[in-house]
Amino acid sequence: MSEAVTMDKLVSLCKRRGFIFQSSEIYGGLASCWDYGPVGVEFKRNVKNAWWRSMVETRDDVVGLDCSIMMHPTVWKASGHVESFSDPLVECKVCHMRWRADQLEKQACPSCGGELTAPRNFNLMFKTFMGAVEDDAAVVFLRPETAQGIFVNFENVVTTSRKRLPLGIAQIGKSFRNEITPGNFTFRTREFEQMEMEFFVKPGTDEEWFRYWADERYKWYTSLGMRPENLRMREHAKDELAHYAKACVDVEYLFPIGWSELEGIANRTDFDLRQHSKFSGKDLSYFDTQTNERFLPYVIEPSAGADRSALAFLADAYTEEEVEGAVRTVLKLHPALAPVKVAVLPLSKNERLSPMAREVNDKLRHSFATEYDDTQSIGRRYRRQDEIGTPFCVTIDFESLEDNQVTIRDRDSLAQIRLPVENLVDTLKTKLAGEAFGTDSLWAGARA
Ligand code: ATP
Repeated sequence: MSEAVTMDKLVSLCKRRGFIFQSSEIYGGLASCWDYGPVGVEFKRNVKNAWWRSMVETRDDVVGLDCSIMMHPTVWKASGHVESFSDPLVECKVCHMRWRADQLEKQACPSCGGELTAPRNFNLMFKTFMGAVEDDAAVVFLRPETAQGIFVNFENVVTTSRKRLPLGIAQIGKSFRNEITPGNFTFRTREFEQMEMEFFVKPGTDEEWFRYWADERYKWYTSLGMRPENLRMREHAKDELAHYAKACVDVEYLFPIGWSELEGIANRTDFDLRQHSKFSGKDLSYFDTQTNERFLPYVIEPSAGADRSALAFLADAYTEEEVEGAVRTVLKLHPALAPVKVAVLPLSKNERLSPMAREVNDKLRHSFATEYDDTQSIGRRYRRQDEIGTPFCVTIDFESLEDNQVTIRDRDSLAQIRLPVENLVDTLKTKLAGEAFGTDSLWAGARA
């Protein structure tokens, strides 16, 4: 259960099973930077694919985009980031640790109790130099959000996609913020991936669309198995709103560190298109050929973090339960997110078993992400698959050689059934697509 999950347990499982490693570990690590290992890369990709599928592929009113990370420096002047994308920084006069003033409860250093300096604005954008000469003219920023690439391409996309408003443009990609206090594993890092969509609408319809997207985004998390009791929507108070926003609601998750933002849904009004029209001198208004009206669209923005969502899905799935007197750690991930869908495990490394096991694996891998494993004892291999969240294990034993049947083991119920190899693909397809796999009649009947 979620109460039992600590960040330490997640970090340890992630390292042990190849989800996430500390960046540059052999050199002592680079603070707040993390690398996704062989299992983690598949898992995070599944999170991003599920988002893309729900936001782009299954809709007629959203298209995709993939912009460069470095953009014209004026973009960040127009967006307001150069002027105001900053956090209030204070420094301890004794130990010189740096803190975000707005996150401190007291006026003293949380580390040593020393006196703090007065806050000063610290801009969170990373700067670098483009080209061979390190002078001011060549300064560029690493984008702190993917959204601006969408706004500056609005006209290109509308013209080439032949779509009418309301229209959304979605993007997944890296963003960079020189956070003052990164930490809590992948929750707050300086390099992270965002999944953002800007939905352009006619002014006057914006409030309705804002509600619509807030609901949709909540449903996305629960449709992938996230427990409703660990999710909540938090509406921003008026004095909390960013200067450009008319309304904002956060999807919050009950992380091991407490309730924290997972995603923000904002009504950004026409702020961004207005600013870019002004700074670029290009009219970014939209002409509606059906009503003969010209207007600057309003924008509803659901903005989620891929790493933060992945962390929340991991925390939510993490379960420790007692099985036959021992503690079993299992990630009860939704099958769509599980890095491996089916593990193929010959009962032992015996050479008589491997040809059939290999054949079964070859057959399955056309339809699912599989993993073939014939190392260690079968118990240990089950434990590994449980810990990486594999919904099904297929075991090949000596009897299989005689009757051409194999055993499927269900991760959650631990039920096992035997079935002919020729039925394997279809059965697994049905089970993996099922909402409540492990509880229908096929499994119920097989339970001891
Ligand atoms: P916070 O208040 O936590 O700093 P924010 O309100 O500045 O976040 P947004 O600018 O709304 O965040 O970014 C949208 C999403 O991007 C966040 O909900 C989060 O999932 C993700 N995100 C933002 N900053 C980080 C970060 N430093 N590390 C990981 N994910 C991040």
